[in-house]
This record gives sequence, C-alpha cells and structure tokens, in this order.
Amino acid sequence: MKKWVYLFNEGNADMRNLLGGKGANLAEMTNIGLPVPQGFTITTEACTQYYEDGRTINEEIMGQVMEYVAKMEEYNGKKFGDLKNPLLVSVRSGARASMPGMMDTILNLGLNEDVVAAMIAGNPDPKFERFVYDSYRRFIQMFSDVVMEVGKKYFEKLIDDMKSEKGVKYDVDLTAEDLKKLAGQFKEEYKKQLGKDFPSDPVEQLKLAIEAVFRSWDNPRANVYRRDNDIPYSWGTAVNVMPMVFGNLNNESGTGVAFTRDPATGEKKLMGEFLKNAQGEDVVAGVRTPMPISQMEQEFPEAFEQFTQVCETLEKHYRDMQDMEFTVENRKLYMLQCRNGKRTAQAALKIACDLVDEGMRTEEEAVAMIDPRNLDTLLHPQFDTEALKAATPMGKGLGASPGAACGKIVFTADDAQAWNARGEQVVLVRLETSPEDITGMKSAQGILTVRGGMTSHAAVVARGMGRCCVSGCGDIIMDEENKRFSLGGKEFHEGDEISIDGTTGNIYDGLIKTVDASIAGDFDRIMGWADKYRTMKVRTNADTPADAKKARELGAEGIGLCRTEHMFFSEDRIEIFREMICSDTVEEREKALDKILPYQQKDFEELYEALEGCPVTIRFLDPPLHEFVPQEEDDIRKLAFSLGKSIERVKSIIASLHEFNPMMGHRGLRLAVTYPEIARMQTKAVIRAALSINKKHPEWNMKPEIMIPLTSEAKEYDYVKKIVVETADAELNASEEELQYEVGTMIETPRAAITADAIGKDADFFCFGTNDLTQMTYGFSRDDAGKFLNAYYDKKIMENDPFAKLDQEGVGRLMKMAVDMGKESNTELHIGICGEHGGDPSSVEFCNSIGLDYVSCSPYRVPIARLSAAQAAIKQNEEKQKAKCSWKSVVDEDTKQKLKDAADRAQAVAKDLAETSAEVAKAGLAGLKAGIEEARRAFNESIKKD
Ligand code: ADP
Ligand code: MG
Ligand code: MG
Repeated sequence: MKKWVYLFNEGNADMRNLLGGKGANLAEMTNIGLPVPQGFTITTEACTQYYEDGRTINEEIMGQVMEYVAKMEEYNGKKFGDLKNPLLVSVRSGARASMPGMMDTILNLGLNEDVVAAMIAGNPDPKFERFVYDSYRRFIQMFSDVVMEVGKKYFEKLIDDMKSEKGVKYDVDLTAEDLKKLAGQFKEEYKKQLGKDFPSDPVEQLKLAIEAVFRSWDNPRANVYRRDNDIPYSWGTAVNVMPMVFGNLNNESGTGVAFTRDPATGEKKLMGEFLKNAQGEDVVAGVRTPMPISQMEQEFPEAFEQFTQVCETLEKHYRDMQDMEFTVENRKLYMLQCRNGKRTAQAALKIACDLVDEGMRTEEEAVAMIDPRNLDTLLHPQFDTEALKAATPMGKGLGASPGAACGKIVFTADDAQAWNARGEQVVLVRLETSPEDITGMKSAQGILTVRGGMTSHAAVVARGMGRCCVSGCGDIIMDEENKRFSLGGKEFHEGDEISIDGTTGNIYDGLIKTVDASIAGDFDRIMGWADKYRTMKVRTNADTPADAKKARELGAEGIGLCRTEHMFFSEDRIEIFREMICSDTVEEREKALDKILPYQQKDFEELYEALEGCPVTIRFLDPPLHEFVPQEEDDIRKLAFSLGKSIERVKSIIASLHEFNPMMGHRGLRLAVTYPEIARMQTKAVIRAALSINKKHPEWNMKPEIMIPLTSEAKEYDYVKKIVVETADAELNASEEELQYEVGTMIETPRAAITADAIGKDADFFCFGTNDLTQMTYGFSRDDAGKFLNAYYDKKIMENDPFAKLDQEGVGRLMKMAVDMGKESNTELHIGICGEHGGDPSSVEFCNSIGLDYVSCSPYRVPIARLSAAQAAIKQNEEKQKAKCSWKSVVDEDTKQKLKDAADRAQAVAKDLAETSAEVAKAGLAGLKAGIEEARRAFNESIKKD
C-alpha cells in the first residue's frame, strides 16, 4: 500500500515535491526543533489521485488520513469532537511552489454546538467565552466560503450590521454575546443559502475540508497563476492538517507575518507585521491595520526574543531570506510556516549579492537564486527625478511594490482589463484586492489600495507580477459603487489621471514623466557572474541602431536577427519598394532595386557601427509582397500615378499578390527564387556596408552573416546561396579587399529540420525561427490560435501558449534532430535561435541542453536570456557532477574490488577465447587444405581412369 500521509516528524525540506512547500518546511522546522504544532501532511500524490478517481478521495487515502488523525490526537493529548479536551485543527493547502492566496485554508475546524458549550463550561474566565464564539463564527464563515462556496460577502454584511448595531468600529470590540449571536446568524445564512444544516460532525467537516483543498488546485485563479508562473497542473497540492494555536485567545496572544530581510529592497532587517488578539487571516486580509513587528518587542518581549532567534536559525539553515507566519498564544510562540520569501527583483539582486558577501552562498548559487522573469521589472521605467521633484504628493500609502505607474483610474479588475485591452494605461484603485482580481491587476500599470499592509494580498501579488503597488492608503475616502474617491480634498472619478510610486508610497494627481531604469550595482554584479558561468552567447533581435544600442547596453553580444523588411516601411522607401513590386520587367525591377540599394547599405552601416564589431546576422526579405502594397483606392491611384501606370494595371498586380494563406505562401527565400535580383541587391548592400565599415575599423574584423529565411529544401537553399555567393564575390573582386562572410539559413519549416543534414552541408550557420516552426509544426497560425487556445487551457489539453514557451516535445524534438544532423554533416556549423522563445527562461534552458551556440531575443529580454543561460549551464554542470558523485558513492571499496576481479576474469576469458578460436581456425584451415588436397587427388584419379 502506498504511503499517502506523513507526520511532520516523518518528512523534511527535501520532500517538497511530495509534501508541498508548506508541508516540507513544517517538517523541516520540526526536525530542527522549532515550536510547531504537530500534525500531518497528505501528499500531492493523493491530490493527483483525487483527480484521477474523478474528484473523489478513495477509501485507502481516507483510511490513512483517519489513522493519522488518531496519531495526531494521541500526540497532542486531545480528541476530535471530544467534550473534555477537544482538538481543533487547521486544514491548509500547500503546493510544491508557493502560490500565495491562490488556494484554500480552513481554520478552527472541529467546532460544533456541543464542543463550544463544553469548552465554555470548562473555563471560568469570562473572556474565554468570547474567544470560543469568535473562533466558532470564524470557522462557520471560512468553512461556508471555502468549502461550500457561499460568498464571503453575506457573512461580512452580517458582521458589519452587528458592528453598526453595537456602534463599534472593529471586530475586537464585539462581545461574547454579539459573537454568539453572529454564529447563530451565520448558521442560518448557511442553511438559507444551501438548504441544509451546517455539518456538526468534526470528521465530516474534516473530509469536506480536505476535499475542498484538493478542489482549490483547479480553481480559476490558481489556473491563471500557474500559467503565469510556469507551474504544471500535474503537480497537485498537498493538504496540511495541524492543531490550532490561538492568536485570538486574549490580549496575551496575537499573530504575525515577517520577513528576515526587506522583501521590497532586500535590506537586512526584520520586517513584518503583528496583530494582537487576532487570527492569521486578519493580518493578510487587512481587516485591521497591524502594528510593525518591532512594536511586538514591547508587548511580547519573551516571544519576540525567541522569534528573532528563530529568524536567525532559519536564515542560516535555508541560506536565504525567510518569510514566516507565526502565532503567539498566551505569550508562547508557535511557528506556522516558513518559506524562501517572495521578493521584488531589486531585493532579489541585493539579497543574492549580500548572501555571497556574507559567505552564505557561492556566486553560482547567487545566480541560480534569481528568477529571470522578475528582471523585467527592473528594466521598466521609474519617475523622472526632475518631474518628481516638481510634483507634490497628494497622499501616501505603503510602498508595497516598487516602480512607477501612471494612468487613468479604474475601480474594478474587469474595467482594468477592458480599458487595457483598448490600449489605455490604467491604475486600479480598490478598497482592497482579492485573489479574483489577479487578471485585472495584471492589466493595470499599478495598483492602489485603501486597506492592507505590506503583506496584504495586493502587495504580495503585485510584487510577484512586478507591478507597482501602493497599499493601505487609509486617507482615501472610497465610494467604489459610484466609481469615485476623494483624497487630499479632491474628488477623483473613473478615467481621471493619477501617478503612484511603489517605492515611496506617494500618490500624485496627474501624470508624471517616467524614465528608463538604471541597471548598475547589484544588477551588474549578478550579470557579471551570469556571464562568467554561461556557455551560450546571447544576441538580440534588432533592426535599428537605437534598438541595437539598447540591447548592447543590456549585454547583447551581437545581432541574431535583423529583419530587413522593417527597413522598407519608412515613408521615403515604401514608394520605391512598391515601384519594385509593381515592375513589369526584370529591368524595371532592377532599376527600382538600384534606388533602394544605397538606403539598405546605409542601414547596415549604421547597424555595424552600433555593434562595434560584434556579429550581425542580416536576414533577407521574408514577408509576402502583398504586405507592402496599398489597399485603399486613393493610395492605389497615387501609386499608379507616380509609376506612370494605369490604375487597372496596378490593381491587377495587387490582386495577383493575393493569397489564401499568405503565411504559407510566396515569402521567405521563395521570393529570392522568383526574383533573384532582390537577393542580389541585398547581398550588395551587406557586402558594401561591411567593406566601408571595415575600412574605418579594420580592428573590428567584420564578418557579415547573411541569413536566408524559410528554407524547406536543400536545393532551393543552394540555389539562393549561389546567387548570394556570386554577387558577394563579384563585389569583393571589384573592391580588391579581403572580407570573410557567412551564409546560413533559418530552420523554420518542419521539412528543413527533417532534412537538416542536406541543408547543413552548405550552410555556415542555422538559426531556428521558432515562431514559424511552431506554427507550421502545429499547423495553426500564431495570429488565430488565440481564439481557441483558451479552450485548450480550460480543458487541460495544453498548459502554455506554445508561442511563448517552446513546445519541447514536438517543436523541440525537431530542433534537436536538426542540431544533431546538421552538426554531423558539417562540424563547423554554428546554431542559434531567434524566435520569441530566445528570451523565455525554460526555452533557453532547453536550447542549452540541445547544444545551441546562442540565443537571440528582443533587447529588453537580453538580461533575462543571459541569466537563464547561466542558470541552465550551472544546472547542467551540477547534474553532471551529481551523476559522477552518485556513481562514486554507490561503489564502495568492496564492490570496486569485485568489479576489478570481474574485469580481470573477463579479460582472461577473452584472451582464452581468442587463442582457442585461433587454434580452431588453424585446425579448420588445415582440415580444409587436406580436404581440397583429397578432392584434387580424387579428381586427378578419375581423369586418369577416363
Ligand atoms: P496561505 O497559504 O494563504 O498563507 P495558510 O495555510 O498559511 O494560508 O494559512 C493562513 C494563516 O492561517 C496562517 O498564516 C496562520 O496565521 C493561520 N493558521 C494556519 N494554521 C493555523 C494553526 N494551526 N493555528 C493557528 N493559525 C493558523
Ligand atoms: Mg501562509
Ligand atoms: Mg519566420
């Protein structure tokens, strides 16, 4: 029978895949002797099984759970549903990767009318009664919301009504009597909503709660979060069941959340929040504004002292910044969770550098600690310092997630999405955010909330997404219903413009100018280490000197893809280009091309200048020609006039360019096959530009790379290459200069990948165009796939957009094939990738594993690619090392001797065999000889007789 359940003392931090992050760390904290209430973890495999069994928990798993309930009861000396010593538990989700707020947790489970009555009867302290009813109403509320999906709002309304009836502001001001009434109202509400009584049997409550946690793995917000964070659906969540400790017991109790370093800046200091007489979710939900953790020192000196020691222990143990959840019950500290804390990109860099300086981490480990996707935020704009100086804040909240944001005010997540979809920049202003708002938060430039601290939902999620966020601006008088608020004496409506600063927490009226972020300091240091450990080169996709310069600043080592067609769209050239397209004869076309040539040459010269001798790959004309011709009647008339052709003639040319499926049509090198003069012109431009730059900078050793797009057949590639080489060599002969150049091709059709050996023979390089390769391998178009891919995600047929994250099983397999075959037929071949995937971390890792020489991506993704490439190399190295170590560790001295003996024996046998066979052969040969001799004699004899 499989083991589906583990006591905390049976696990450890390495069992994260099985126990989830929360479970593994609860086990680890138990093992290192920290005060953790002792419970058990139901494995992630049980969750997967739950889904396999059609969303039911099978008897075997439930049987084990009940066995462990008994163990937990025994360990804690309390019993479920017991009237003397009742056990109350929390049931908590916890996946392999942390997904804050995405899944469900139920507290105070095990309460019912009898248990409540018994608990009160057993404790004469009148305050205790209040605590029991507080826990009871919390339980009904959470259970209804999380397990039975009765909306929170019904219960919140009842609380609000009670508070106003009693004339109090906070829930702590409600009396035992009030809470008792509330509990009753809650149960009535439950019955009203669901048509049945609230379940009173603690075991039934537990079963339903466990199921709810499993179910929450598949809720919509978790699905969105997973897709954004590359977390596979197949992982499942674990469930942790553990005894409650009560921060809401009295004023000697409380609950808190803390970080060992500042998650926004990385500064090494204890950061966090604490709430007296409260339970965990109160801090996170922003129900009351908590006190800073430092204040806890005055109120709970012993617990605080112990807590700072725990922080130190945990940091040393995990060698990383820790995010901890804890509770104080009657002045005694309990640890409820720890994990490597989520942090802003800026903080991640600082912490990694500091850990190296503190001797806790190696450079490689520091590089591996940074989530490359996070770097993005650092490269995004900040407020212009001058503009900021001139501005006066009209209000201030907490700087919960750094960066600058400005835009139009919207009040709902849906509006944020809708406005963003039509191209507006928005700032989402909310009382507080909840997990359902995640998509809307993503669509906003920034998020501003009225309630909630640094660890509120809005703050945590915004930091994870790299969105600027200001939280807890209590001065805002909010009227969400009518989509307006007032701040600093002014009323703001939907669509009004504001700016927020997620670093300082300042809020400004109107739009403030932003500037690009600087990438010095820790960023530079980490990137330096990344460059030291990566083996793949990183290039950029750039068509203009400005983009190329930006990319170089960000560390690009060359251009992997210059799309020449972009150069034809500018106003002064499109005319000539259209003239070329509408030519009736080759001569006419060549004449037009001659006019374009100097422009192209200049473009290339500027690019070469910007790249200062780094390699530049220039791709020849790729899109179908119809993209360049006008469609409007007026424009067609103008074109006809300037060409001196009839409108009908021009129209018929345009009509002739129409294709049913242009992406699979007359494009790429097919254009060069039909119009070789275009390739000739582009070759001349490349070579002439290189020659002229070479004269200026002989030290750069220019070696232009010409890339032919969309090859699917070796012969067509060879045909175009011959045109390129003839033209280039003629140019070189005429100039009498020395210049080396390369000609290669994109691999972006499945056929090119499958016949890469033939194509590779005559290519200096391959470059995977994974956008086209993906669309042609799947047979669906990038521009249309969006319409149906959502259905594929919903139905779990696909988990990721294959245009964003490389499909390794299909497209990746074609790539690997092409690499292997290409290199076999041409050992000099160098290979890269230049699709969108070149800047996606998991795709970069894959490229490293199949032995690519470089990845090429858009300028702002260059740092991400550098870091990803380094992480891939470090990981690969580690795995190699591990493989070696594990081999060594398996083979002890005794086995080694045995292996040696076996090898010796094998050698002796082989020698013996060789000798024997030589003898056999000799004997056989002699026999054969004798036989032949015999035959000959017989033959001669018979001749004689005749
Ligand atoms: P999340 O993953 O959303 O943080 P958790 O499972 O960590 O959810 O639970 C949220 C909060 O509930 C915790 O931070 C803690 O304060 C409180 N909590 C969970 N389990 C217990 C427990 N056994 N005793 C007291 N408080 C608990
Ligand atoms: Mg938690
Ligand atoms: Mg392409």
